[in-house]
Amino acid sequence: MTDTPDCIFCKIASHAISVDAIYEDDQVIAFNDREPQAPTHLLVIPKQHFANVGAADAPLLGFLLHRAAALGDKLLPNGYRIVINTGADGGQTVHHLHLHVLGGRAMTWPPG
Ligand code: AMP
Ligand code: ZN
Repeated sequence: MTDTPDCIFCKIASHAISVDAIYEDDQVIAFNDREPQAPTHLLVIPKQHFANVGAADAPLLGFLLHRAAALGDKLLPNGYRIVINTGADGGQTVHHLHLHVLGGRAMTWPPG
């Protein structure tokens, strides 16, 4: 996989920065968010760099969502929330596509 310079998630995907992977295959890596917003808070990222959800292709998005749901089903049998923050108003701070998988507490609605 080609790193995008200065992208923290590319560095994680290429193992230049090590994390405790919860799941990994040739396309995806999942690891704990360093600032968890729930008792369980995983990030599921593609190894290939896409700036946001709109930049990624449909098969990859399907695969990412399928993997995120599989992790949620396995780790959070009481339910979970999958979130993709996008752009400034969406609250995106890391500009490498990532899915948040949150659970271990009851989520509120509407989100903040
Ligand atoms: P977002 O605000 O949707 O772009 O989410 C970015 C998330 O990445 C935040 O929840 C951060 O806590 C998390 N994060 C940033 N850098 C790291 C890192 N090195 N390891 C784990 N989580 C990170
Ligand atoms: Zn990246």
